[in-house]
Amino acid sequence: MADHDLVIIGGGPAGLTAGLYAARANMKAILFEAKDIGGELLNTDLIEDYPGYESITGRELAEKMGAHATKFGLKIQPYSPVKKISSDGDWKVITMEDGTTHRAHAVIVTVGGEPIKLGVPGEEEFHGRGVSYCAVCDGAFFKGEDLAVIGGGDSAFQEGLFLTRFARKLSLVHRRTDFRAQAILQDRLLGMEQVTAITPATVKEIGGDTQVRWMDVERNGSIERISVGGVFVFIGFKPVGRHLFDEHIDHDENGYLLTDQYMRTNIPGVYACGDTRAQLAKQVTTAVGDATTAVLHAERYIEELKHMRRSFPEATSEVLEREVERMTVKRYLAGQTIIREGDPADSFMIMTKGAASVRQNGPNGEREVSTIKPGDFFGEIGLLSGTPRNATIRATAPSEVLVLDAAGFRDLIENSTETKQRVQTSMEERLAKVGGKTGS
Ligand code: NAP
Repeated sequence: MADHDLVIIGGGPAGLTAGLYAARANMKAILFEAKDIGGELLNTDLIEDYPGYESITGRELAEKMGAHATKFGLKIQPYSPVKKISSDGDWKVITMEDGTTHRAHAVIVTVGGEPIKLGVPGEEEFHGRGVSYCAVCDGAFFKGEDLAVIGGGDSAFQEGLFLTRFARKLSLVHRRTDFRAQAILQDRLLGMEQVTAITPATVKEIGGDTQVRWMDVERNGSIERISVGGVFVFIGFKPVGRHLFDEHIDHDENGYLLTDQYMRTNIPGVYACGDTRAQLAKQVTTAVGDATTAVLHAERYIEELKHMRRSFPEATSEVLEREVERMTVKRYLAGQTIIREGDPADSFMIMTKGAASVRQNGPNGEREVSTIKPGDFFGEIGLLSGTPRNATIRATAPSEVLVLDAAGFRDLIENSTETKQRVQTSMEERLAKVGGKTGS
């Protein structure tokens, strides 16, 4: 079993972006892709709405994104299908189809989805013999033939445009008269001489001999048989991310994974991005944005988890994960006050970087009573005793502190007698040092 900070599953635009950021942050990350790197980009001829590239082929953009991430040190493993993701304490265990396993503190799922099928007679039988779900992959096999595209969205129009390079005639079959594809794509495709829109119409059957030769289409209550050598189906896409989990992962009624604004799913340490996530748009731009957010949050989550594990080795994984999800990070410059004597005690803190001085006011002014270094926790006295802070804590170097609210603190100590005892002992030791005043 290999251990990683982060495992990214899926090598489309979202996965490659997450990988780029992870590699640049020096995280121990690996990306698994079941097929070639590029995801849906490989099924797309031209991309014309990715800022900075007026027009670029999907394959070229995929290659550029892959090269960019590997240049910064990302480990990419294509042809490595993942079978399932499960939790083992606060580790995520990734089991590959070949039976090998990997462990990671966090997982970003960017596995996209698969094409929706028409579900009509002949579709399955002729898949690979004239029925296709990828014009870029198969279009060139149909040079000079009459072809059909089914669907009325961006994919149908985008792929239809690609097929006009090969098709003698192209029929666009859509179940409504209005199309949902972007206007610019509609104008381009429907303005072409060899293209005929057949609407409102539904495909009833696809048939032929060794290859597709015809399809039956119902329009206005009657069935027409249209001669075609190829039927390209683009009627949408169904997400596959949730099938990787045995345990429940929140998803909408169509199977898209639900996340918050940080791309977190309901399973701590599991993030979802791109086309497998429930959201308004499925664009390269949104996939890239999702992944940026996810990996920046995951980086913080992993760091916090490691700090919590070091500070509270006896706490259960579930409790640690829960508290990490509640925590915030605060940063202080040298000289800034972290806690002020007399303020209400509403949080518990763990220093992760820097140093601080614990100071109390006395008859001769403020004096240092102790110091705080990375790994130390503080702020427990006021929370346990219900009194205001009994000391001022001031950063003496640029410092970073994890802040847990009062409810999280209670959850942490109530779930482990060992933690409770340790925090209690620390409070007593500190109180002994400062002469019994309760508070910070
Ligand atoms: P989509 O936008 O969901 O469109 C699916 C089309 O298929 C719709 O026109 C729908 O009809 C039709 N349809 C659905 N079920 C059907 C059925 N059972 N029988 C017949 N027709 C059916 O899917 P998509 O075109 O694959 O696009 C997916 C996402 O990727 C979209 O968000 C899209 O914007 C994005 N995309 C963007 C670009 C781009 O250039 N920026 C390119 C490709 C895809 P109704 O309209 O009647 O529902």
